[in-house]
Amino acid sequence: MNDFAQTVKQQADIVKVIEGYIRLRKTGAQNYSGLCPFHKEKSPSFSVHAVRQFYHCFGCHESGDVFSFVGKIENVGFPEAVRIVAGKCGIPLPKREYSSPEEAAGARQRAKLLELHETATAWFEEQLRGPEGAVAREYLAGRGLTPDNIKTFRIGYSPDSFSALRDRLSGSADADTLRASGLFSSKEQGDGSHGPIYDRFRKRVMFPIANEGGRVIAFTARTLESGDKAGAKYINSPETPLYSKGQVLFNLDKAKTAIRQAEFALLVEGQMDCISVFLRGIQNVIATSGTAFTEQQVAILRRHTSQVVVNFDPDAAGSNAAEKSIALLTEEGFTIKIVTLDDGLDPDRFIRERGVEAYMAALRGARRQSDYLIERARQMFPGASSEQKLKAMNFLLPHIRRLPEKLSRDQFAGDAAQKLGISDSVMREELRQAALKRRDRIEAKTSSLNEVERVLLRALAITDPEEETTRRLAVDAVLRQPEYFEHLAASPALLALANRQARDPIEAVEDAAQRALLAEVLLHETKPPTESEVLSAIQEVQERAIESKLRDLRAQIADAERRGDFAEVVSLTQKKLDLDRALRDLQRNKPL
Ligand SMILES: [Zn+2]
Repeated sequence: MNDFAQTVKQQADIVKVIEGYIRLRKTGAQNYSGLCPFHKEKSPSFSVHAVRQFYHCFGCHESGDVFSFVGKIENVGFPEAVRIVAGKCGIPLPKREYSSPEEAAGARQRAKLLELHETATAWFEEQLRGPEGAVAREYLAGRGLTPDNIKTFRIGYSPDSFSALRDRLSGSADADTLRASGLFSSKEQGDGSHGPIYDRFRKRVMFPIANEGGRVIAFTARTLESGDKAGAKYINSPETPLYSKGQVLFNLDKAKTAIRQAEFALLVEGQMDCISVFLRGIQNVIATSGTAFTEQQVAILRRHTSQVVVNFDPDAAGSNAAEKSIALLTEEGFTIKIVTLDDGLDPDRFIRERGVEAYMAALRGARRQSDYLIERARQMFPGASSEQKLKAMNFLLPHIRRLPEKLSRDQFAGDAAQKLGISDSVMREELRQAALKRRDRIEAKTSSLNEVERVLLRALAITDPEEETTRRLAVDAVLRQPEYFEHLAASPALLALANRQARDPIEAVEDAAQRALLAEVLLHETKPPTESEVLSAIQEVQERAIESKLRDLRAQIADAERRGDFAEVVSLTQKKLDLDRALRDLQRNKPL
């Protein structure tokens, strides 16, 4: 680790940094815990040690320091993780160092593209306020947005021109960067090359799409034309080095704090619905932007909550995108409730026409996903004939199987049988099988370390200079007779720690599985072991090692006797006697 990384690590507080991504609760004097962002779970097994500045998950055994956390969650390499953490702590970056010229060029390009998007956003805002923006202002006022609201979401307007934005930006970046920004289009030429660029968004209301940090990375643009000339109602920025549609949740930058506080996210389909609901004070709202959720989006959302209230357009509730999103969230273990608004209104219209109180009441009345689906099945296949019941059940079975937990499947199947009035034993059996079908996740096995190993790991991980004598005892024992420790499961960690010099213990153990063992032990620790605990642990290791050697020797002696090799028997017996004596000496000097 270089000097800069060391400085950052000393100044960063891992608890604060991790809290920027997931919710943590204080669970001990030095520990915090929360839901692990790296595997699916419903009860928290992810712990952060505030003093030792590391994290560990008892479920998936991920562990490490602040940089490995940020690297893993942001999916970036070590140098980038250091820069991100430095940024969060307000530590100025030294001259940037990149591992390759390509990486440096990529980072430069992304920085430039962010700058272009910022300029474009400000420029679109300006156009909205100007004379050409009148029609857009009228549209937004019609949707109930005040000038302040417009400012909050930085809504803008792209004028009816093929070159206005290009002219504005052409001085700030070269042609390749402008092309890469996604703000422009061009026609492919006959020879396959790109033609000149022109403004992609024209005569549209511009809704900026921000990344989780609140920086604009793309746009959604709504047309103000109607009829044949209008083109698509909404168009979006294409995929760019900044923006990947499947990795962004609209409004998450503004909603994430409220999502954690409310302990659920409200999921709506359109950006306009989202803006409308947010501006009326329900701030834990995000939008899918009309397409089905991707696994990356689900993973992003899980960092903030595992409960979702879905309020999709009623006419779209059965749509593919909505069903796929709900299915994916279900499979990923989210708890889902579903809101249906009266008279088939979408959230935006409902909240404008009926008011926020009525909308909140509708949210409170959200039904469990299973109740909602059973109700839908009854509406789709009404009547009490067994043929209808069979159809209703076949509609429900895939939904039941999708639930990751057996308990929920059981409950869903039971509810369905009861509410559909299924008394037929064959059908009941079908439901039961559906509930059984998916295996529950096998619990990760707890570590196989014994008490002796735990004591030694804790002794070797001592950082308090006042406890140095205790640490020294363990270090000397391991370094003097490393072969005694070889058969222990934690042997690589013990050796790495004994040789760690002044390094941070967690960092010193480079093997991920071994580091996980150490992290797990340290998270259970309240204070370091005493000298006498360490001495008896060492003694026990030595005894075990000698006993195991004695077993080997006895087998070898028996073997030599069978072969009639008496010289060998004598030599082995001598060794055995030496070990017997060593063992007796050990036991006699046993510390109290
Ligand atoms: Zn985990």
